[in-house]
Amino acid sequence: MSDHVLVTGGAGYIGSHACKALSQAGFVPVAFDNLTTGWADAVRFGPLAKGDLLDRASIDAAIAQYRPVAIMHFAALSLVGESMKNPGLYWRTNVTGALNLIEASVAAGIKSFVFSSTCATYGDQDGVQLDESTPQYPINAYGGSKRAIEDMLRDFGASDGLKSVIFRYFNVAGADPEGEIGEQHRPETHLIPLMLDAIEGKRPALTVFGSDYATPDGTCIRDYVHVMDLVDAHVLGLRWLLEGKPSRVFNLGTGSGFSVREVIRWAGQVTNREVPIVEGPRRPGDAVALVSGSSRAIEELGWNPTRSNMRDMILDAWRWASKPEYQG
Ligand code: UDP
Repeated sequence: MSDHVLVTGGAGYIGSHACKALSQAGFVPVAFDNLTTGWADAVRFGPLAKGDLLDRASIDAAIAQYRPVAIMHFAALSLVGESMKNPGLYWRTNVTGALNLIEASVAAGIKSFVFSSTCATYGDQDGVQLDESTPQYPINAYGGSKRAIEDMLRDFGASDGLKSVIFRYFNVAGADPEGEIGEQHRPETHLIPLMLDAIEGKRPALTVFGSDYATPDGTCIRDYVHVMDLVDAHVLGLRWLLEGKPSRVFNLGTGSGFSVREVIRWAGQVTNREVPIVEGPRRPGDAVALVSGSSRAIEELGWNPTRSNMRDMILDAWRWASKPEYQG
């Protein structure tokens, strides 16, 4: 019988793509989700265990029912702007939720834990090469809550032998090229889907959040990684742990930075349409530039990101956004 993996947030954007990759790799992904930001229709590759990380009994019940060999933990609130307005919500949901999940895993004897962390844990470090040894100084509650969970995993590793692979993602974009699943947030706050909606006239013009940053064109710089490449790394990370290798942190980014204006230019070229924009103020909590400076995932995990170029990311997101299932 195939091994089960409990995928928290399995009905969300990245979690649902991870479920597809896991099922293609021969695992049964069990999507554990409270469906507040996830979508039941995105759960297509294994069972849905409806539950909430703030309700420990629902985690214990899912673990008892499916007996997973490992946990992949995606479920979290993940919006920088919202985390600045409502930090309590982020600390409570993300940190308490993760603590419940970690304690439930340890109690059930599960030793392999793949965690979705973020480059937002590094904060705003102008000119610093961001690799896994860079000290973390988050500047928003989202990044702070994720760093706290990284610390928690280290501590439970020491006390209970819990082994973790921590992935610090840069900006995730694109969608399943087969069009089964894609990015759908409500409300949508992310650059690429908002831009595609603005092109289609489904939303007003895209607001550029700040054009006076100390970058060549004045807009923030990010490192974009394709969701399919990202989830491939998760399967490799899972195998790493199941083979008994030690806890490890990996950045997942390409090392190439794109400014907001550059992404807009790419979208114009790829879709052959005008992107309507207006210039607005900076968004609180945004770092000026976040670009990975590490190839550890490639060297150690054998990660081979093949779709993380701006053209494929925008094309795949555009194909998804044009489907009837997408309700932008
Ligand atoms: N951004 C923007 N307008 C928007 C949404 C995002 O200018 O309507 C900018 C944002 O300030 C950041 C970049 O686009 O510099 C990526 O933002 P997103 O919210 O997609 O991801 P984040 O970097 O917050 O994880």
